[in-house]
Amino acid sequence: MSAERPEHRQFHDFLARHRTFLLTTHINPDGDGLGSEAALSLWLSAQGRRVRILNDSVVPPQFAFLARHTVFEVFDPGVAEQRLVEADALIVLDTSNRQRIGRLAPLLDRTTIPVAVVDHHVSHARGFGHVNVIEPEASATGEILFELFRQVPGTVTEEIAEALYIALMTDTGSFRYSNTDTHAHRMAAELLGYGLDPQRLWSQVHAQASAGRLRFFGEVLSALELDVDGRLVVLDARPEQFQRHGLVGADTDGLVDMPRSIVGVEAVVLFSEVEPGKVKVSLRSTGRVAIDTIASKLGGGGHVHAAGVLLRGTRAEARERVLPELKKRIEELPADARVAW
Ligand code: 5GP
Ligand code: MN
Repeated sequence: MSAERPEHRQFHDFLARHRTFLLTTHINPDGDGLGSEAALSLWLSAQGRRVRILNDSVVPPQFAFLARHTVFEVFDPGVAEQRLVEADALIVLDTSNRQRIGRLAPLLDRTTIPVAVVDHHVSHARGFGHVNVIEPEASATGEILFELFRQVPGTVTEEIAEALYIALMTDTGSFRYSNTDTHAHRMAAELLGYGLDPQRLWSQVHAQASAGRLRFFGEVLSALELDVDGRLVVLDARPEQFQRHGLVGADTDGLVDMPRSIVGVEAVVLFSEVEPGKVKVSLRSTGRVAIDTIASKLGGGGHVHAAGVLLRGTRAEARERVLPELKKRIEELPADARVAW
């Protein structure tokens, strides 16, 4: 084992101290959260540890293939109590915000279970674990795990590589967001060396949409609003539209990214009201406006160019809380050419 960073050493020591692990990730998990769980679960199991995964939310259908080798349990109060009692330690992946793990969070107040956090979100606190490996420069939580795994030579298998590739591919928007650096590409190249088929993996995640989902995207996109002289795109999705197309909140995945392709756009915001009174706000920047602080001021978070927050109230109220600040930031930008996503 050749960990150079002190947190990496602490993480390996943490693993060495325990035998039974419970893994979890944020609500509405994405490819990075689920891929990281699958990878760490396979890796720990291969080292003779007992591992369970318990999440607040179900696995979206496009990631169901990750459950070939691992079981993802969904929160139920009884099961959660049981899993916390059985486990020696909890590992939280892809969030360093305690509330983001959902219904498991309040149960932690009543236990003394040791917690480790592995995450790459911009964190304004130190992380709530006893051990915190938080690296905002990593393009995915899976990238941090790959580094940790490689510190123990010969422990990465094809199945682990596949789960890590899903984490990396999804969080870099298939290698096109600003977090796609040489590190991300080197990691992808190394993972492919385990015999992965990138085209098949991309299709497994991205070629799973229903026709209804595309019609819904079409409806929402055709009603897009331009503001601040075409530099801000505002999208709006109503509960009635989700119902009519038979969709859930996770089905908006990718929608907010599309208007970034419009020339001159600095930011995109989607107000997605899946159920009346609950508005998921997704924010994206094309590279110059920092939008993570807009989300974090409202209780959410994320990355500099991709962030979000869940707000209670109407869409009109959510717009009132987000748009003035967002417009102000765009108006204050220097009149420069845009940089990157
Ligand atoms: P998305 O808009 O795709 O749901 O999320 C974009 C980014 O913002 C992701 O990194 C996600 O983890 C983060 N994010 C989205 N919603 C929330 C939220 O309610 N709270 C926090 N802390 N982060 C969020
Ligand atoms: Mn992530």
